[in-house]
Amino acid sequence: MAITHSFQLQEYGGQPVQVTHSLPELKENEILIRVTHVGVCHSDVYIQDGYQDLGNGEKINFADSAMPMPLVMGHEIVGKVVAVGSRKDQKHIGQQRLLYPWMGCGQCATCAEGHDNHCEQPQSLGIFRQGGYAEHVIVPAAKYLLDIGDLDPAWACTLACSGLTVFSALRQLLPVKQASALAIIGMGGLGLSAISLAKKMGFSCIIACDIANDKLDAAKQLGADHLLNTKNSRAPDSALKSLAGQRLFGVIDTVGIPATVQMAISAVAKGARIVLTGLQGGQTELRIPLLPFNALSLIGSYTGSLTELSQLIALVRQGGIASLPVSQRPLCCLPEALSDLRKGNTIGRIVLNP
Ligand SMILES: [Zn+2]
Ligand SMILES: [Zn+2]
Repeated sequence: MAITHSFQLQEYGGQPVQVTHSLPELKENEILIRVTHVGVCHSDVYIQDGYQDLGNGEKINFADSAMPMPLVMGHEIVGKVVAVGSRKDQKHIGQQRLLYPWMGCGQCATCAEGHDNHCEQPQSLGIFRQGGYAEHVIVPAAKYLLDIGDLDPAWACTLACSGLTVFSALRQLLPVKQASALAIIGMGGLGLSAISLAKKMGFSCIIACDIANDKLDAAKQLGADHLLNTKNSRAPDSALKSLAGQRLFGVIDTVGIPATVQMAISAVAKGARIVLTGLQGGQTELRIPLLPFNALSLIGSYTGSLTELSQLIALVRQGGIASLPVSQRPLCCLPEALSDLRKGNTIGRIVLNP
């Protein structure tokens, strides 16, 4: 039996450790991937902590969820197909592919409608099944393999989560006039991906918001039209409103804390949409009548569908979209990469090479 290695999280609050183990026999339809690039996402920091903060002392404890432990995290994966469980999939051997990680149960009506990412029994790679911080990863079926053509695999892997999440969020803003202002809050991997995608999708007045000037500089290089350091501003909501010329119709909040949600609600014009993708957590009060009075849509969005990921790859392969900054490190740097992400001192994405 072939031997492989992976980085396992063995307890919440601990560090992933390298383990050597044998590769399981492939079941029917399964595909074995030799991982070459895997992006480090902020969700992995929350998984490592073992909970999601709901504010006021409330938490979602992952120990009470269906997440396996030990767990190999890592869900932004590009690799090569090295073995298949079914003869019909032989043609895939040798192909370089991006993996769609947001699989559902594959049995329910939601999955049948193509919304795996909304399945009540999620099977996501690196969260509910073993993921890509490893030499090898197993995918349940060939339909989750996507052709990235000649895209740089170090950037392409980030499309599976940071790219897809903001692409889906931007699509949900599209009824909003693209000529009016769009604010993107948080210039981490998601926010920076959103800037260059929003440009390509025709948004012409993009305001980047963050508390760190070096991240705002990165946003400017990717095409942000205005920058707002919300930490330096005494009234960031008024500052945002005036940068938007009182016509802020779209917000993507990739942070998701009370301060960012309140800023967005107070800065937007009537008829606006606010899409929340950030998971930092907390609780906030909602003045309910202001939602109907202001015709405000507050939308939560989690990743995106398999169809959206193929649409995103097609869009990126057309060209004209700047890559977010990517720094590559060997897989053994995973603990440091998670710690750098936790401290907030990375620009763009860290991508590991197993
Ligand atoms: Zn992610
Ligand atoms: Zn399902």
